[in-house]
Amino acid sequence: MGYRMLIGGQRVKASTGHELAAINPYTATEFATIPDAGPEDVDTAVAAARAAFEGGWSTTPGVRRAELMNRLAGLVAEHADELGRLESTDNGKLLRETTSQAHFAARNYRFFAGYADKLYGRTIPLDNPDTLDYTVAEPVGVAALITAWNSPMQLLANKLAPALAAGCCVVIKPSEHASATTLRMADLVEEAGFPPGVINIVTGGPRTGIALSEHPGLDRISFTGSVPTGKAIATSAAQNLVPVTLELGGKSPNIVFADADLDRAVTGAVAGIFAAGGQTCIAGSRLLVQESVYEQVVQAVAARAAEIRLGDPMQPQTQLGPVANQPQRDRIQRAIDAGIESGARAVVGAEPVDPALGEGLFVRPTVFADVANTSTLAREEIFGPVLSAIPFATDDEAVQIANDSDFGLASGIWTNDLTRAHRVAKCLVAGTVWVNTYRASAAQAPFGGTRKSGYGRERGEEALHEYLNTKNVMVDLTGQTPDPFSIRL
Ligand code: NAD
Repeated sequence: MGYRMLIGGQRVKASTGHELAAINPYTATEFATIPDAGPEDVDTAVAAARAAFEGGWSTTPGVRRAELMNRLAGLVAEHADELGRLESTDNGKLLRETTSQAHFAARNYRFFAGYADKLYGRTIPLDNPDTLDYTVAEPVGVAALITAWNSPMQLLANKLAPALAAGCCVVIKPSEHASATTLRMADLVEEAGFPPGVINIVTGGPRTGIALSEHPGLDRISFTGSVPTGKAIATSAAQNLVPVTLELGGKSPNIVFADADLDRAVTGAVAGIFAAGGQTCIAGSRLLVQESVYEQVVQAVAARAAEIRLGDPMQPQTQLGPVANQPQRDRIQRAIDAGIESGARAVVGAEPVDPALGEGLFVRPTVFADVANTSTLAREEIFGPVLSAIPFATDDEAVQIANDSDFGLASGIWTNDLTRAHRVAKCLVAGTVWVNTYRASAAQAPFGGTRKSGYGRERGEEALHEYLNTKNVMVDLTGQTPDPFSIRL
């Protein structure tokens, strides 16, 4: 299968003809090729988006934009099984997760379609009653949407849905490691009936990403990916004075207090780090456990980790698929090796997988205990199924350890004490706090980080404002000629 990009309504190869292989990480074989776009293709895509924006999309009534978005949502939901299968083939995630992510994406398109005809401004009462003041919400223009490989459909929906609702046109660049579902979305975009140029998709690696993020023709960049790439993009965006939304990494604390329902907390810890093989920005990769139940919880989590069934992501009995790509697998292995060298106690995992698993890029679920929060294991994002358990004594110490991180994306609290739950939630430096749950998400709930986890918000009404500018209009109601040398209040 040779995928094509979508530029100005045309399905095209890279102008150079260059292609990249799409590799199935379970079979370690190539299943498709994707275009490797160069700067010329990016230029054409940005120009197409600009032409569509100025040619009518920005003034298309919200009700029409909503209609197209709802059609797209319907198509994504209708094709959820197929899209899930394709994404699992591309990045090795469990089919049941990728299929549910397709439905989540559809929900996102529907949720934001609801905003498309409700982009209200405000009338603002001024001190001077003879001046009418009102605001108008206007689309920022052309947005670049750059995504990572771990959840391409969902990450795209987080960006594309609010951008379309706001009236923006976009150039999308998915990760070179998992572009298939984004390219398949091009068919659904066409079927939904979006005008040519409103949604453009270019594919390729960092070179393509650089050409896009440095492009002077953008009005907004939204990026999901690693911290180093986020910094590079923020730097080039600064040169063009383009605002950026950055959804970056995390080292999220999942905090278990002794009074918690420990069975639920253990399940939450397992979900937090081993679901999706820990390849999620929100992974609860630091498990903070109160001393009195520390060993009990660590052993229970380790026992559950040891039982996780690795295998074919398409099979319903599989609980952990392969890591998405070879560089990522190598990175995880280096982190595990460094953890062992640092003297951390490997309670489970940290060993090669069963050779019967074949060529797949598997990593065994690994739990390190007694990890110092100052160690590399506890400070650097691994983006794999590797958990670091850290004991704490008091609420204050839990908060201190949790917040002692470069990141501030997500966090979890397990307790049956209502006061403690809210008090600790208030103290945590994180964009998301879960109480007695982990990894829950909703189209309506704003999501994003602080510190090196990035800035800006996706999902929820907050996301819409990333793609809107506020125009203020002042109207004189007196009809009189003012004194030109004084300020009218
Ligand atoms: P990455 O930074 O390597 O790549 C992300 C995207 O940027 C890809 O499309 C890539 O081609 C492109 N890119 C790479 N170099 C570029 C450059 N110099 N200029 C412009 N574009 C460039 O990240 P990844 O390995 O694909 O994803 C893993 C990272 O993503 C992890 O750190 C993870 O935490 C983060 N992530 C964050 C969230 C979130 O919402 N906060 C969600 C998922 C993943």
